[in-house]
Amino acid sequence: MMNTNDQAFLVNFLKTPKQITIVPHRNPDGDALGSCLGLYHVLKQLNHTVKVISPNEFPDFIAWLPAAEETLIFEKNFEACKNFLQGSDLVFTLDFNALHRAGDQMGSYLEKLRKPFVMIDHHQMPDAYAKITVSDTSFGSTCELLYRFLEELNLTQYINRDAATCIYTGIVTDSGSFKFVKTTGDTHRVVADLIDLGVDNPKVHNSLFSTASFNQLQLLGKALQNLKVLPNHSTAYTFLSQDDLNEFNYQKGDTEGIVNYGLSLKGINLAAIFIENKEESMIKISFRSEGEFDVNSFARTYFNGGGHINAAGGKSFTTLAETVTSFETLLTTINKQ
Ligand code: 5GP
Ligand code: MN
Repeated sequence: MMNTNDQAFLVNFLKTPKQITIVPHRNPDGDALGSCLGLYHVLKQLNHTVKVISPNEFPDFIAWLPAAEETLIFEKNFEACKNFLQGSDLVFTLDFNALHRAGDQMGSYLEKLRKPFVMIDHHQMPDAYAKITVSDTSFGSTCELLYRFLEELNLTQYINRDAATCIYTGIVTDSGSFKFVKTTGDTHRVVADLIDLGVDNPKVHNSLFSTASFNQLQLLGKALQNLKVLPNHSTAYTFLSQDDLNEFNYQKGDTEGIVNYGLSLKGINLAAIFIENKEESMIKISFRSEGEFDVNSFARTYFNGGGHINAAGGKSFTTLAETVTSFETLLTTINKQ
């Protein structure tokens, strides 16, 4: 995972109290915030001064994570974040591998920041900004990779119940509750350790998946009604306009997981959702596939995005209708079956 130099550097570095910033990608999900807070709880016990600084707000469904309320938000609290980053000896970036994934504001700030970075991530094609790059796409989540990273540094004894809860959460969310292809025996062995450390696993699942609002379910209903199936391309996609979002009082996180419904159809191996965001003047897209179709390269090539082979995202800067039309045209052009 790490070469001996990197390992020795970190072991030595962490021996004395330091100031450390931990950063998830913009629009953090369960794995991004879970890994950041998991590492946070470990480093706190080692007497470091630690802050998680998220580029923007995180959704309610992960706001219950232990110490989530101590997270600073870069786009809201620029001065405090800048001060902490300036005083930091080390910056961890978790669950992303290119600084622009921290968003325009924080991304460009980090690009100019002259501090050593440690990247821990499981996406493809890492950029070369970090002093230490721990990147492994064979892992289903950054949280699982973080557990192995801590093991390599002999720090698992510092994974207390709060850290374990955060790490468990990221594994659950990124593995689709232990069903996606990268869920291995090793994943379950890590999960077993975490449960032994005191994670209340039914409570975590309940906090993640059983706290929907009425509006959220209505919005899901709207997306399901908008679903369009393209049998010739084994594809199903849906969309939500800004008006749809407004009608159901959209809150961050409300559209999480909707894209997966397309894949639940028989014979469908590519699903997409297009979500209009008037405030940011863009269409946010999520892609999911089953089997061979590589949505990471699809999103990278055509939609300014990236991700993993079976789960990726991207953006479009034309209208919702134009984006959907060009998606359909593209499937014909590339002859997607
Ligand atoms: P989601 O569709 O849930 O937003 O994202 C699925 C996966 O693709 C996640 O691993 C996420 O980090 C990645 N992803 C989503 N949007 C983008 C994007 O705009 N650029 C890149 N490089 N990755 C993305
Ligand atoms: Mn992840």
